[in-house]
Amino acid sequence: MDTQRTLLRLMNLPPSRFAGVMRTSDGFYIAQEQGDVGYNAFLGNPNPVHEGPGLENTLRIWAGLTEEEQAAVRTLAANPIDGAPIPLADFGIPAVAYCETCPLPSEGFMDGGEAYTADELAQIHEEHA
Ligand SMILES: [Zn+2]
Repeated sequence: MDTQRTLLRLMNLPPSRFAGVMRTSDGFYIAQEQGDVGYNAFLGNPNPVHEGPGLENTLRIWAGLTEEEQAAVRTLAANPIDGAPIPLADFGIPAVAYCETCPLPSEGFMDGGEAYTADELAQIHEEHA
């Protein structure tokens, strides 16, 4: 799976047109057109998440990903090649829930490049429960 392409599709940006997207530190999105050098397409701010074909498309793509693919998307969004982290919740993708006791996600994995399997995380949380 090409995680960058998947992230674009989740953001309803066609990979046939765009090679990449980045978020600026003040929250705007700019994209790199296929064949272009640099991020020269200004996309602006995403609309607040709302019902509609865009959200349906995003959730359908998300649901079709394996757990590993979803984790790869979360990792790329949190640690993008260029620009600021992309909050997936802005596109209707549920945010990772964090443990109330330790700084790790309560399920799934990823954070700052550190990856755990679901079983390893369950073990960690069980030990401090
Ligand atoms: Zn914990």
